Amino acid sequence: MRRKIIAGNWKMFNNLSETVKLIDELKAKINNEALNCDVIVCPPFTSLETADRTIKGSVIKLGSQNMYFEENGAYTGEISASMLKSTGCEFVILGHSERRTIFKESNELINKKIKKALASGLKPIFCIGETLQEREEGITEKVVKTQVVNGLKDISADDMGKIIVAYEPVWAIGTGKTATPDQAQEVHSVIRNLIAELYSKEVAGNLVIQYGGSVKPDNAAQLLSQPDIDGALVGGACLKADSFFAIIKAA
Ligand code: PEP
Repeated sequence: MRRKIIAGNWKMFNNLSETVKLIDELKAKINNEALNCDVIVCPPFTSLETADRTIKGSVIKLGSQNMYFEENGAYTGEISASMLKSTGCEFVILGHSERRTIFKESNELINKKIKKALASGLKPIFCIGETLQEREEGITEKVVKTQVVNGLKDISADDMGKIIVAYEPVWAIGTGKTATPDQAQEVHSVIRNLIAELYSKEVAGNLVIQYGGSVKPDNAAQLLSQPDIDGALVGGACLKADSFFAIIKAA
């Protein structure tokens, strides 16, 4: 049985005081609950240290939204894996569609970041997903497979145990349009079968594959009840403790 993982991608929201407020509210809700899932929050870089201090004493874990693959050097504006580790980060989102689209990140760059994250002891949340045009052209499977094969190039079976894959159809992110549970399940199963081919049935069976794309309290339970959907990467709905907690409860 794979334990479900619910992660909140805060994107470019929340200053320091808002960070403390949101985590305190979430902690208060989670406090007395025996959860059936793991919970991760991924605030912006500037809030990581504060978030790490604020989650202390709770089950909430900390992740970042991006990093660069070099150890250090003349890379103005970038953040390294060891810097993230020093803030208390355990996870890092890599290859998010907003990074791929707005910041032109390629599968090759994402692969370098995944390798560096793993070598530094960070667990990648590796995002993949097709655009609306790609879905309408009927090439969803091909796009997702290319992202998996190139993004995970030269990653060992051992290291696969430290990776979470997040399937996020780009057309569903921040749009209010969610993939139906069947549509999501279909792609999750393609991903798991591909991992079985590339590695083994065991590696595929242990892999946590999250769904992301307008997950809300009212659609979470149905999505999370699919056999290959092992959690959610939540954007908009993680910015309010009430809605994020409702999704955690659905898991
Ligand atoms: C995301 O940012 O990864 C995401 C899925 O956003 P939203 O839930 O707002 O669609």
